[in-house]
Amino acid sequence: MTDLVADQDAVRRYLCDDAPDARLITVRLGRTKDEMLDHQKMPLILKSLCEELVAATCVLSHMLKFDGEMIVQIKGSGPVTMMVAECSSEGRVRSTAQWDDLTEAASFRELFGTGYLAVTIDPKHGEPYQGIVPLESDSIAECINHYFENSEQLDTKLWLSSGDKGVGGLLIQRVPEEGGQTFLENSNWQTLATLADTITKKELSSDAGPLLIYKLFHELNPRGLDPWKIYFGCTCSRERSARAIRALGAKEVKQLFLERQSLEADCHFCGQVYQYDHADLEWLLSDQPPGPDTLQ
Ligand SMILES: [Zn+2]
Repeated sequence: MTDLVADQDAVRRYLCDDAPDARLITVRLGRTKDEMLDHQKMPLILKSLCEELVAATCVLSHMLKFDGEMIVQIKGSGPVTMMVAECSSEGRVRSTAQWDDLTEAASFRELFGTGYLAVTIDPKHGEPYQGIVPLESDSIAECINHYFENSEQLDTKLWLSSGDKGVGGLLIQRVPEEGGQTFLENSNWQTLATLADTITKKELSSDAGPLLIYKLFHELNPRGLDPWKIYFGCTCSRERSARAIRALGAKEVKQLFLERQSLEADCHFCGQVYQYDHADLEWLLSDQPPGPDTLQ
């Protein structure tokens, strides 16, 4: 077994010598969880939910191993109207949410109301794919498990927990024998699933990584593979940000410039503020992307 540590900002996969039909994945975010959300000034309850959504998105991205972006979005009718997490195949994550007034004590269902969770796979090459499940759950993990029940033929379960020092996740999945549809008969899968169910929230948020896997499954001889690093980063740009202003329409944009010297658009994900002045008006009103000399 790899060194028995809790991972820091990484996703990791494991094999169990005594449960060869089991796929295990852990995720743990330490510093990244604060770096990606601290500037957003969101209520603590939402911060925890965003952290868990990012952790889930990292696991999904690592499970499917494709070149591109994994995007998981929740749209609701409650005070939280939108929450989104993204993870690229390079391990870059970001997240944000939109909300109205809410009380810290509100439950998951009260926060989101009715709505849906959408999982989008956006490959660099090829067509995007989207799977949607209605919101009928009490937590992010339940939503994702509901998604698995609807889309995966394989027995799959995810646990998530957000704590003060970290957010952790554990996924277990039973995979068929190589190249086939059948499962191993003499399998310890049930033992593994039972052991996974004993996990506590505190263990998950503080120990996710080789340490947690050893604690839970040491009798099945688990082996950790190399970690996949996760980091916070944003893909916003001055050009992309200008789309929000363009979306107001030419008449509205002209009117706004009559009233002020410049317009600002800020990126919700990273807090970067982009400023546009009168010299930018022409390209803001054009449908053409700006030339290189107009970009900052
Ligand atoms: Zn940004």
